[in-house]
Amino acid sequence: MKLLSIKDLDLDGQRVLIRCDFNVPMDEFGNISDDRRIRSALPTIRYCLDHDCKIILASHFGRPKPGEWNEERDSLKPIAKRLHSLLKMDIKMADNVVGDDTIALAKALESGEILLLENLRYNPGETTNDDMFAERLASMADFYINDAFGASHRKHASIFALPAHFDKAHKAAGFLMQKEVNFFYKSVMNPVRPFVAVVGGSKVSGKLQALVNLVDKVDKLIIGGGMAFTFLKAQGYEIGKSLVEDHLIEDAKKIIYRAMGRGVKLYLPVDVVVAPEFSETATVKYLPIQEIPSEWMGLDVGPATNRLFREALNDSQTILWNGPMGVYEMDKFSKGSFMMSHYIAESHATTIIGGGDTADVVQRAGDIDEMTFISTGGGASLELLEGKMLPGIEAVKA
Ligand code: AMP
Repeated sequence: MKLLSIKDLDLDGQRVLIRCDFNVPMDEFGNISDDRRIRSALPTIRYCLDHDCKIILASHFGRPKPGEWNEERDSLKPIAKRLHSLLKMDIKMADNVVGDDTIALAKALESGEILLLENLRYNPGETTNDDMFAERLASMADFYINDAFGASHRKHASIFALPAHFDKAHKAAGFLMQKEVNFFYKSVMNPVRPFVAVVGGSKVSGKLQALVNLVDKVDKLIIGGGMAFTFLKAQGYEIGKSLVEDHLIEDAKKIIYRAMGRGVKLYLPVDVVVAPEFSETATVKYLPIQEIPSEWMGLDVGPATNRLFREALNDSQTILWNGPMGVYEMDKFSKGSFMMSHYIAESHATTIIGGGDTADVVQRAGDIDEMTFISTGGGASLELLEGKMLPGIEAVKA
């Protein structure tokens, strides 16, 4: 997959609109709790600054509904502040997205100045991929850069309709977008083997297509988290009150047979941490999967499973991890996920982390610097794993 590269554009002194993904998590006090997505956009912004560009930054933030604007919840003003402290320069903040006053501000920019548009979803045209909205955005700039990997699975105006207003010499992917896509195609589509995928999280349904696609590519598939119970039930185990999707048992069986047929080694938990209720204060037991009491539920993988999964990872050269091994948000059920993070961090393999929860586990486990690549896009990276072409990639393909 080759993308148009920002490096091939003649950007000197030009007006450039960069679609970023500044959709960062906020804590209950309204502070940005993780600014990785903002920091990941800096190489592209700095490159444009170095080329004396007049820079317009655009992003969505949260899910404001048209007509339900809540300044405190939805405005990009906190992002402007964080950009100001990261770049140590003035950031002009627009009051809206494509109002006449904002377009005038964009046109009045001097070289080396940055204007941040207000939340793209402030305008209903963003989510409907409206071409008139895209046209007004396009009127602000001579060049379009997509650096918003995390939003590239959405057919929204700033991702899809907007780049159609620029020819191939006037649009490209930014550095973050290129890095995300290159990592995916190099490491997942053409991996150094053995290639191990570790998949967890709550439900099979959210990752079914990704599992089906991965079974054809990996040497080993490790399944943990809530989704493992549907697979265990498919194999005939009693799983008590654990999370299960009965309607997907046949699909789980198909994945098991497909793995067997292709010589892919499939690893499921052999023991679990069970509790009588979904609660931090519940009594817990560590039991083999053969012994889950009918009224109890499995909320993490057990110690024997941790050792088994570590053995399975031992000879890997490429590891892809998406989805926690248990309810890692509660201390009592976080060990399986933290151990998995440590094992992956210690390995000498190329390690790729996808999904917001998994990145959160790796961060909490203190392993963030040990991983080769942590994707900034949960939904987008999952859709790539499902084998889909993302609208944002399609729009800036070479
Ligand atoms: P997902 O969004 O599908 O990747 O799932 C992430 C969520 O799965 C996390 O919030 C975990 O708490 C949850 N999870 C992991 N293991 C289990 C389990 N055994 N039972 C219930 N929820 C789980």
